[in-house]
Amino acid sequence: MGVCENLIGGAWVGGNEAAPNVNPSNTDDVIGEYTRGDASAVDAAVEAAQAAQPGWALASPQVRHDVLEKVGADLMARREELGQLLSREEGKTLAEGIGEATRAAQIFKFFAGETLRLGGEAIASVRPGIEVMIEREPVGIVGLITPWNFPIAIPAWKITPALAYGNAVILKPADLTPGCAWELARSLKAAGCPDGVFNLVMGRGSTVGARMVEHPGIDAISFTGSVPVGRGIVVGCATHGKKVQTEMGGKNPMVVLDDADLDTAVSVSANGAFFSTGQRCTASSRLIVTEGIHDAFVEKLTAEAAALKVGDALDPATQIGPVVDQSQLDQNLSYVALAKAEGCEVSGGGRANGPGFFQHPAVFTGATNQMRSSREEIFGPCASVIKAADYDEALAMANDTEFGLSSGICTSSLKYASHFRRHAEAGMVMVNLPTAGVDYHVPFGGCKGSSYGAREQGAYAREFYTTVKTSYIAPWNPIPASGLSPPQRSTKTAHLT
Ligand code: NAD
Repeated sequence: MGVCENLIGGAWVGGNEAAPNVNPSNTDDVIGEYTRGDASAVDAAVEAAQAAQPGWALASPQVRHDVLEKVGADLMARREELGQLLSREEGKTLAEGIGEATRAAQIFKFFAGETLRLGGEAIASVRPGIEVMIEREPVGIVGLITPWNFPIAIPAWKITPALAYGNAVILKPADLTPGCAWELARSLKAAGCPDGVFNLVMGRGSTVGARMVEHPGIDAISFTGSVPVGRGIVVGCATHGKKVQTEMGGKNPMVVLDDADLDTAVSVSANGAFFSTGQRCTASSRLIVTEGIHDAFVEKLTAEAAALKVGDALDPATQIGPVVDQSQLDQNLSYVALAKAEGCEVSGGGRANGPGFFQHPAVFTGATNQMRSSREEIFGPCASVIKAADYDEALAMANDTEFGLSSGICTSSLKYASHFRRHAEAGMVMVNLPTAGVDYHVPFGGCKGSSYGAREQGAYAREFYTTVKTSYIAPWNPIPASGLSPPQRSTKTAHLT
C-alpha cells in the first residue's frame, strides 16, 4: 500500500514527509504511511475551498442531503471494516470501534435530514408596511481540528453540520489517528462531494493546525482536544477575528449516594471510568461516594476493575484496550505514582504485559478532592474514590473543579436526582447512567473550563456553522402615513366562521 495522501481540491496530494500509523496493541503492526502536510498544504486547501464554497452554498439542499446520505450509507455498510481500522489505530476494543463507526454513519444520516430542515423566521416590523426576515447563511470556510480519542465520530460530528449548512471544510485530524479521517475523505469523494468542498490536511498541530488558526481565508475554527491547546486556539482566533468553538478536558464526577442500587452504581462507575481505556473527555474520573455505601462500593468496584480483561483491541475477549501511545502511558503511570505519594491506596494501575501500551485499570481509594490526582485530567483508566459525608458535601465536591463537561449521580431518590440535575455545574447531567455515552441528535458540550463557544451536535450545531442575517423589506411604492385600510372579509370566509 502506498502513502495515504491529503485531499485538496478533489486531488490526492502528497507532502515532503509521511508518518507511520502504528497499532498501540502491537507496535510491530504498521497500519500504513500517511502524508504529513505543512503550511503550504493549508494554503492550497483554503484556495480550493474558496473556489468551491459559493457553489455549494447555493446548491439545492437536496444536493447536500444526497452527499451526506450517501456517505452515511457507505459508513454503515462498512462499519465492521472501519471499526476494525479504528481499533487498530486508536486501541478501542472492536465492539467500541464498530460502535463508533456506526455512530459516524448515524451522524451523517441525521445531518442529511437537517439540510432540509434549515428554516428562517418572518417577523412583524415595528414600522408599518415593512417585513423583517431572519435567515441563516453559511459561515464560509471552516477549519476542523480533531483529537485522536474519537477518530471517526468527532470528525463526523463537525464535518456534517459544516457541509449541511453550506460551508466548505478543511479537516486536520490528530497526527496519531489519520486512518479514519482518510477513510472519511475517501467516502466523501466517492459520494460526489464537489472538489474543494471537503479538504483533508493531515499533519502536525504545530504546523498545519497553527496555520489554520492564522490563515485569513478561514472564517471559523471548531476544535476538540486538550485544554492548553484549546485555550491557545481561542486566543489565536480572537487575534485573527475568527469564530471559534472549543471542546476540551474534563474531570467528571460520579456521585454515589447511600440510597443507590449498589450493582448499578458500580457498573455505571466502572463503565464511565475504564471503558475506552478511560480515554474519554466524559470519563468518570472522580467517584464521590457517601459514607454509608462507601466501603461496599470500594470493595465491589476494585474487584470489578481487577477482573476487567486488558489486551489486544481486536481480541473479542478484551474489555480494556491499550493506551494510545507511550507518552500517554507514561503520563498515566506518573499519576498512579502521584496518587500513592499523595496518600491514596492504589489498586491496579500497573503496566500489563504485551507488545503494546497496556495498563490495568486503577482505583485510587482514600482520595480527597484537593489532591492533584483528583483535580487534573489524567486521560487514562484511573479513578479516584472520594468519601463524602452526605449529599450536600458530595454536590459541593462535584462542582469544585475547573471543568464542567459531564456530571453524574446514582440514587433512587427523585428529590436528589432533581436537585442534582439543577445544581450540577456541567453541560450534561446523567442520572443512574455513566458520565460517558451520549445521543447524537441533542447538544453536546460543557461549561467552565471544558468548553468555549456554541454547543456541538443536533440541531444546536447550526449556532456555530451558520451566521444570522436580518433583512428589512419595504414595498416599492411607499405606504401613505395613514396606512392602508384592512381588506374586507369575503362573504365565504364570513360564512365559514
Ligand atoms: P491535543 O490538544 O493534543 O490535540 C488536538 C488536536 O489539536 C490535534 O489535531 C493536534 O494535532 C492539534 N494541535 C496541537 N497543537 C496545536 C496548535 N498549536 N495549533 C493548532 N492545532 C494544534 O489533544 P489530544 O491529545 O489529541 O486529545 C486528548 C484531549 O482531547 C483530552 O484533553 C480530552 O479531554 C480532549 N477531548 C475533549 C472532548 C470534548 O468534547 N470535550 C472530546 C474528546 C477529547
